This record gives sequence, structure tokens and C-alpha cells, in this order.
Amino acid sequence: MARIGFVGLGNMGAPMARNLVQAGHAVAVFDLSAQAMARAEGAAAAASGAEAARGADFVITMLPAGQHVRDAWLGTGGLAKAAAPEAVLLDCSTIDVGTAREVAAAAGKPFLDAPVSGGVMGAEAGTLTFMVGGPAEAFARAEPVLRAMGRTVVHCGEAGAGQAAKACNNMLLAISMIGTCEAFVLAEKLGLSHEALFEVASKSSGQCWSLTTYCPVPGPVPGSPANRGYQPGFAAALMLKDLGLAQQAADETGAATPMGARALDLYRRFVEQDGAGRDFSGIIEMLRSSPPG
Ligand code: NAD
Repeated sequence: MARIGFVGLGNMGAPMARNLVQAGHAVAVFDLSAQAMARAEGAAAAASGAEAARGADFVITMLPAGQHVRDAWLGTGGLAKAAAPEAVLLDCSTIDVGTAREVAAAAGKPFLDAPVSGGVMGAEAGTLTFMVGGPAEAFARAEPVLRAMGRTVVHCGEAGAGQAAKACNNMLLAISMIGTCEAFVLAEKLGLSHEALFEVASKSSGQCWSLTTYCPVPGPVPGSPANRGYQPGFAAALMLKDLGLAQQAADETGAATPMGARALDLYRRFVEQDGAGRDFSGIIEMLRSSPPG
């Protein structure tokens, strides 16, 4: 059993903290919102982030964006200072690579960036994938704690490597989803049935996760959001956020990502057209009804 301080009890953080409690850890939690504080059953309520961090073996944050993460760890009453010298510090939020590296360098204690994929359902079921950057020794200590919240835990490299993996993966996902949607829209124009395209592409060189697991038309994959009116799943607003982080990384490094830039443009348009709260595969409806120039 470990002592764990957990800060940020939103849609993701609350079920993650609950899974830590269920695994037998002693968890102290803090969130700025009183409503959120009520969501981590079985955990001890702390009066501040610093109080949750004090005396913990592991301190974990799950916050909205880079600015929140920098403030929480390094600001006045910050977690980095409050944590014990031997504690392992982890940030599971999805943020830009630059801020992840900056916070890790300034923390003065072993720090891991450990963003997740798997969404709220994965957080509740304890089946998240963690992609982790930071020192190997800290990773080895933290791995059993991460396994209480996830099924797959990958050490990707030094500080920032977890966020880098997340940005690259989600850019690839957005591009493959748009490509899959375009193939179905073209098939419709050509009089080719969804079933026929799925049958061929899922068994040939066009196959990808966006087609075979998350098919953007109803029918071929019964569990995909297309079968429930594109309720998320993975909301388009979150995909837009991740594409912004990927393009920020591309700009900072000089990487050529023309398809990633185009995907960002299309998802921005989808979000502006009422797509924010819809599943990201719902972009097929925009491509079908108002073909972008
Ligand atoms: P959320 O907005 O539901 O929760 C964030 C919580 O952080 C809120 O309860 C807020 O009150 C709290 N908070 C903000 N600043 C704080 C501070 N200084 N101290 C204490 N609490 C503070 O967000 P979420 O959906 O849980 O997502 C969290 C992170 O996980 C984001 O970076 C998001 O991109 C990433 N993520 C989300 C999903 C998803 O499906 N929701 C999937 C993968 C990754």
C-alpha cells in the first residue's frame, strides 16, 4: 500500500482516484471545486493540494491544461515543494511537451509525465493506457501505481516523451479518422454500400483502428459511437485540443505535418459547427453535408 496525493478530480481524475482507493492505497485528494471533491469516495479530503501532497509516496495531478499544471506544481503553495524529497511526482494531464519538460526540470524531485488514452470509460474501468516520460528509476517505482488505473503502461523515454507520444498518436488518429470518413463519403457517392467497403477495407491495406474499432458509420461495428448518434466516446473538443498540442510541437521543432495541420483546421470547423460535445467520428456528417474547400 502506498500513500498517494491526488489533485484534480474531474471526469478523468475522480474515477482514477477511486481505482487507487479500491486497489488498497491510502489516497488524499484535492480539487478546487467542492462538487468535484464529493466524487472521490473512500479518499481523504485535503484542504489544499499541498496538504494532499505532504507525506505522500506519490503525488499525481490530472488537470485541464499546461497552465494549470505549471501553477499547481510550481506556483505559490505548489505541490513540488510540499512533496517529500523521496516522493515520485506524476502529471497525467494532456499538456504541451515544453511545459512538461519545464515542470520536470524545475520540480527538484523525480517527475514523470504520464498522459493517458482510453477516455472516461477507460478511467472508470481501470483500463487506461499510460505513456510515460521521465527517469527509469522513478518509472519503475510508479509502474505498480499506474497499473491500478490502467492496463497498458509504456515508458517512452526521458521527460516529455509521454506527452510527445500522446501528441503523435492523436494526430495520427485524427488523420486516419478523417481518411476513413472520406472513404465512406466517396463510397456513398459511388453507390457502394457501407458494408461492402467495410468488408473489403477491414481485410485489406486500408484497415486501421478508425475503421475496424471505431467505424464512423452505423452498422459494421455495433459498439462504435456512430450507432448512438455520435455521443462520445472521445469528444471532438478534446481531439481539437490534442491537435493543437501536436501542431504546437511541430512548430517548435520544425517538423512538417501538413496533414496534421489540415486535420486541426477541419476539427476546428467541426467544433465551431456544434460538434464540440459530439464524438470525433461525427466529423463524417460535416464532410458529407458541407464539403470543406
Ligand atoms: P475536467 O475539466 O473534467 O477536470 C479537471 C479538474 O481539475 C476540475 O475538477 C478542476 O476543478 C480541477 N482543477 C483545475 N485546476 C486545479 C488546481 N490548481 N487544483 C486542484 N484542482 C484543479 O477534465 P478531465 O476530462 O478530467 O481531463 C483532465 C485531463 O485529462 C486533461 O488534460 C484532458 O485533456 C486529459 N484527458 C481527458 C480525456 C477525457 O476523455 N476526458 C481523455 C484523455 C485525456
